[in-house]
Amino acid sequence: MAQVQRTIPLLLPADEDLRQTLAVFQAVQQQLSAPCFNGGQPLSAVALHRACYRQVKGQLNAQMTCSAIRLVAAAYQSAQSNRRPPQRPFQFRRRRALFLIGPRGRDASLRPDGTLSIWTVAGRKQLPYRVPEAFQQRLAQAKTMDSLTVLERAGQLVGRLTLTLEAPDPQPLPAAEETAGSRQVVGIDLNETNALVAVDGQERVLFVSGKAVKVRNRRTAKTRARLQRKLAARKAQHRDTRSVRRVLKRLGRKQRHRTQTFAQTVAKRLGEWAPPQAVLVFERLQLPPPQHGQIRGRALRRRLALWQRGLIRRWAEQQAQERGLRVVEVNPAYTSQLCSHCGQRGTRRRHRFTCPHCGAEEHADINAARNIRARARCTVLRGSGLLSTSPEARAAAAAGKPLA
Ligand SMILES: [Zn+2]
Repeated sequence: MAQVQRTIPLLLPADEDLRQTLAVFQAVQQQLSAPCFNGGQPLSAVALHRACYRQVKGQLNAQMTCSAIRLVAAAYQSAQSNRRPPQRPFQFRRRRALFLIGPRGRDASLRPDGTLSIWTVAGRKQLPYRVPEAFQQRLAQAKTMDSLTVLERAGQLVGRLTLTLEAPDPQPLPAAEETAGSRQVVGIDLNETNALVAVDGQERVLFVSGKAVKVRNRRTAKTRARLQRKLAARKAQHRDTRSVRRVLKRLGRKQRHRTQTFAQTVAKRLGEWAPPQAVLVFERLQLPPPQHGQIRGRALRRRLALWQRGLIRRWAEQQAQERGLRVVEVNPAYTSQLCSHCGQRGTRRRHRFTCPHCGAEEHADINAARNIRARARCTVLRGSGLLSTSPEARAAAAAGKPLA
């Protein structure tokens, strides 16, 4: 069994003592920040502990004091490893606190009676909590609970509970002769209008429309363009632009959130639909060249669509990890132009693909998904010795045709 870590949200009541605990945790981090910065030579967690533990102890329990020390040192460490050495001490402005759970600690625990037992500055408390429906299964499957981070968001207390789940190991595929049909190989085409189209080895099709999200994103883009113009006009007149900027920011946040949620839903549907021990085949994403200045209109929409595809991929990989599925990538060239039956070039008119050579006619994205599937069978999997050449690949090779 492989182990994977996941985080689920926990909704908490507005408890004053818990809120106060977050404030103290933040204050301790803030006290540690300057000494950890150490004039631009950040201290390691061990060195920071040695230098400051005595000064900051007593405000939190011992274990949480250690957690605060580790988090502060980690913030400086990650800034350095991102090659952005800090220029001055960090400000720890957000109220949050880390509570260790289970084998790692006893700062908090979920009790069988359905309450959260948690350490606060006013002593241990039992608080009611709620796990959103969508995450309850994950909680039930948890092998261990590792930690709980509580933070304040828009005046509410929210927890992020980190769990360790057991996931099946990806199975080695059966011997080459048995996989001629290779029923588990799933070709996946990602698009904007049809967010995801997948075809498995038994020709089962999964179709997830992206139209609703696309329409809403277009609408947001229009509003945004209008606000950009307004902003420019106000700037030219030297008028206050704060309110316009605020609305623009909120709009952007809303759109990002919408796309994230959508990508998660799509990935989940794929995970549930895919046959057990499936091999998920995606096209390699082609990243656009770096852009300079502000991007608008068509270029912006294209980037958004690409970002959405990237997100679906990322969430699909998470699903695959939890379900013990494999993910492979293939070359995207011509997957939407070639006929998945005969391998020759066809024509695409909107969502209809027709092949003048063999007469095949089909939804264009299903055709593309089949090509992606075929490409994995004849290149990636064969190359790694995982799979034999598919019947289509053999037939195409025998006929001397290029294979899609
Ligand atoms: Zn054809």
